[in-house]
Amino acid sequence: MRSPAAWICPTSCRDFIRNGVAGPVAALINELSKLPTIGPKTATRLAFHLINQPREQALALADAIVSLKERVRLCTRCFAVTEEDPCAICTAPERDQRTVCVVAEPRDIFTIERSRAYHGLYHVLGGVISPMDGVGPSQLRIKEFIRRLSVEAFSEVIVATNPNAEGEATALYLSRLIAPSGITVSRLAYGLPIGGDLDYADDLTLARAMEGRRVL
Ligand SMILES: [Zn+2]
Repeated sequence: MRSPAAWICPTSCRDFIRNGVAGPVAALINELSKLPTIGPKTATRLAFHLINQPREQALALADAIVSLKERVRLCTRCFAVTEEDPCAICTAPERDQRTVCVVAEPRDIFTIERSRAYHGLYHVLGGVISPMDGVGPSQLRIKEFIRRLSVEAFSEVIVATNPNAEGEATALYLSRLIAPSGITVSRLAYGLPIGGDLDYADDLTLARAMEGRRVL
């Protein structure tokens, strides 16, 4: 009879079991190695590290992952990751209700907030236009954004997509779409490396980019 762990694990995991790694350890290595930037070697190191950790610490990690999936959802107004809907940014009275910053992913909000250079609202597209990956405007939350533009009194839209081909194409598409409304459309400009990723920008670089945004 096959052991349950061997049955759960795909081929890569069965290799670990064959090499004398216990089933649950192999299953954990397999799951960890699915995470971005974590290869089989790092996954193995992390799994064996957890074996040596106190039970409470390992369970706290497991609990945090469960809470993440059970309590976190998307804000129905801006699509930020939140526990409350609408999110804390959408409901904060001190935020500038006339400026909206359009970002590709929820984590970009976290990055921009860290710079403390921006005090308006957000809208998360859920990706960028990428014909190579088969992502067109209809797959993004552009419809929802246009609806917001018609009911909220924005005077400026800041497009903060990454400074690469897809990010630029998305910014251009949005600027053409918004132009007839007369709302100013600006784009993060100075300081961000071309072809780079918003996620990797340091706080000062991102603050400069926000200050140096230009009208499209
Ligand atoms: Zn929100």
